[in-house]
Amino acid sequence: MIPVAFDYVRATSVDDAVRLLREHGDDAKLLAGGHSLIPMMKLRLATPATLIDISGIPQLNTVAVNGGRITIGALTTHAALAASDALRASAPVLWDAANQLGDPQVRNRGTIGGASAHGDPAADYPAALLALDATFTIAGAGGERQIGAGDFFRGMFETALASTDVLTAIAFDAAPASAYVKFHHPASHYAVVGAAAVLTMNGGTIGAARIALSGIGDAAFRAGSVESALTQVDTADSAAVRAACAGAAAGSEARSDTFASGAYRAAMADVFAARAVALAAGRTKTRR
Ligand SMILES: Cc1cc2nc3c(=O)[nH]c(=O)nc-3n(C[C@H](O)[C@H](O)[C@H](O)COP(=O)(O)OP(=O)(O)OC[C@H]3O[C@@H](n4cnc5c(N)ncnc54)[C@H](O)[C@@H]3O)c2cc1C
Repeated sequence: MIPVAFDYVRATSVDDAVRLLREHGDDAKLLAGGHSLIPMMKLRLATPATLIDISGIPQLNTVAVNGGRITIGALTTHAALAASDALRASAPVLWDAANQLGDPQVRNRGTIGGASAHGDPAADYPAALLALDATFTIAGAGGERQIGAGDFFRGMFETALASTDVLTAIAFDAAPASAYVKFHHPASHYAVVGAAAVLTMNGGTIGAARIALSGIGDAAFRAGSVESALTQVDTADSAAVRAACAGAAAGSEARSDTFASGAYRAAMADVFAARAVALAAGRTKTRR
């Protein structure tokens, strides 16, 4: 449980972090909250020669709501998101995810940027960010670029980030009729199955739905067939909601491990997708 020896440098700005990443090459890693990277280093699953600490860059620790568009700096902690009334009102799906993530220590140190960059298949934010159709802003050697959530999460511990990239911000449109629910692992609180729903409602009927799932396959994914089946469903008809959510995991190969089989994960995907839809729909009436 002792990491391989490494060098440590602090970045003072995003440009400085990109410069340091280029200078130190593939052997360097960014350090944000350290709650995924440090455990991996202690297990020697990661052996970076240099850690570039970005946690002191102030511009990346912000939650801004502007005319229905929410922009979150990559260094915003899970605890800050969980405590944000603005996020709760505008995008409860992400607020739910932040509140259910890990334990207080993890929430106080871990960041949304680190959690997204890490690409853990059982992480909570990827489902919420896919359902929000979020846009990721990335600073790299070639300047700044933006990429959609659908192209960002690529596989198990794999994202669109290159080794000299810094994720700086994540933005999305307000989605008040939204929710995230999960069946958490009792030890780690990671998602065995996590389901995010973002709904556009016409009265009590679903006009459009974006449904995304975490914990099931190698990466979070959108449940396209469920999204289509939910269109025009009256959310007061719980049997119709459940029927539309059947086969939610069809787009992914469900993983088996010592805690849950793939078949069990797939069955729970249907259940939790329907719960997320019901909770999101209920938020059009009262905030819960
Ligand atoms: C006990 C425990 C329980 C947990 N439970 C949950 C849970 O229930 N749900 C869940 O979703 N997560 C859970 N986590 C993970 C937690 O959310 C981590 O905080 C998160 O995955 C990583 O964020 P971090 O800021 O700590 O990143 P770090 O550990 O500092 O970095 C993680 C990786 O991302 C890279 N990185 C960090 N920031 C950036 C950036 N801005 N741009 C580019 N690359 C970057 C790093 O180089 C590294 O490769 C848990 C962790 C622990 C230790």
